Amino acid sequence: MSIHEKMRNDLSDKMIFEKAKEYALAYSDAADDMEAFPSKASQLLLKHFEEPMIEEGKSSMEILQMLNDYGAPNTVAQTGGRYYGFVNGGAVPVSLAAKWMADVWDQNGGLYNTSPINAKLESVCESWLKDIFDLPKETVAGFVSGTSTANLCALLAARYQLLKNLGWDINLDGLYGAPKLRILAHREVHASIKKTLVILGYGKNNIEWIPSDDQGRIVVDALPEIDSSCLILLQAGNANTGAFDDFKTVCTIANKYNAWVHIDGAFGLWAHASEKLKYLTQGIELASSWAVDGHKTLNTPYDLGIVMCRYPDAMISALQATGAYLVYSEYRDPILYTTEMSKRARAIDLWSTLSYLGKKGIDELVTGLYIRAKELESGLSKVGLTIVNDVVFNQVMVAYKGDAETKALLKYIQESGVCWLGGTTWDGRAAIRISVCSWKTNDEDIEKTIDVFREGIAFVNL
Ligand SMILES: *Cc1c(COP(=O)(O)O)cnc(C)c1O
Repeated sequence: MSIHEKMRNDLSDKMIFEKAKEYALAYSDAADDMEAFPSKASQLLLKHFEEPMIEEGKSSMEILQMLNDYGAPNTVAQTGGRYYGFVNGGAVPVSLAAKWMADVWDQNGGLYNTSPINAKLESVCESWLKDIFDLPKETVAGFVSGTSTANLCALLAARYQLLKNLGWDINLDGLYGAPKLRILAHREVHASIKKTLVILGYGKNNIEWIPSDDQGRIVVDALPEIDSSCLILLQAGNANTGAFDDFKTVCTIANKYNAWVHIDGAFGLWAHASEKLKYLTQGIELASSWAVDGHKTLNTPYDLGIVMCRYPDAMISALQATGAYLVYSEYRDPILYTTEMSKRARAIDLWSTLSYLGKKGIDELVTGLYIRAKELESGLSKVGLTIVNDVVFNQVMVAYKGDAETKALLKYIQESGVCWLGGTTWDGRAAIRISVCSWKTNDEDIEKTIDVFREGIAFVNL
């Protein structure tokens, strides 16, 4: 049978989607009680995928069944309440449902001409985000795969603009012979910023590294003299401690000299949406560009980052592509603001999440993560753990006695399946990092988490 015959004679779309829906609903029902991380036995099922590339393709049903039987047991319980790894976040159900619909629409979100609905919702989200973060009205936003790409887009715009201010057009004359930009970053900026600087060709040895304090915040007094060739990298939410830089002081100095400040706020920028936590983001509106994720704190589905920049010309000049067949419309064309061309219509799930929560709901969601982090802080210190960081947002770092005990405790908890959290080193010592970032995490989850720590401590002390 030819592939054309196979596809034409396959079950109807409806039957295939129904099967996927049946599996998806069963998964969703079980999500609260599943292991936070797949057991060794579940991981053995992954062997089923180790096949050589086959000559004759499988049937649609066989494929869905393999994913259900061997794939689903090898997911982490991201949509449950006790996955505290990295800063992953959960997913608001309606936003997953909206993404489902959008997936069926199979839109290319690149242009107005390839998806009017995505272009429209990008405009709407751009304006709502400016409102939520109190950013200048001239700010434009681009919708990308995550904060790593958002950081890259922002730094490309920064480089274009800073060089332009120094009389150099990077699009025409490139980097060779260009005036030297000074990159100022503190030690505790995120790995994605360090990676972006390397991708852009600056090299780690050319960065002016500024010390950071015991919480991973920039030491403002250690800032060197600033001039108009400076690109300064700040952070809203350190991935270990959750700490925020002093944006107001640094931006005020930077703006005096026409320098560019970029804020990586992957999960932390959302503190601005919480009345209680807003004090942490004071001064963000003074920066030149910002990066934030939807898929972390806001709990949209995965693959959703946002770059925002107060200089539309810089963004568009740095990121615009030209080609005879690339017809820009009189409406918004999403690819003007991103490195990607073809892309997922991700504004659809972002709009759905923002519409569902509303300003009040976002405030409650973000504040709720903080409140539960504080509950963990107090509960865990009562069972004998050392709290390593100042818990100002959603991150809690703990240690138990020395490095060996901390690592043994971490291993016990990871293998328990009750919850999953990662390890790190802070200040040269082993620590366990807990990121409360799902709307799902409730009091019962917090209790279960504290209980498993208590059990783990008993085990370590055996
Ligand atoms: C997660 C994170 C990033 C990277 O974002 P992705 O969405 O994973 O690409 C960058 N900076 C910080 C502070 C982060 O927490």
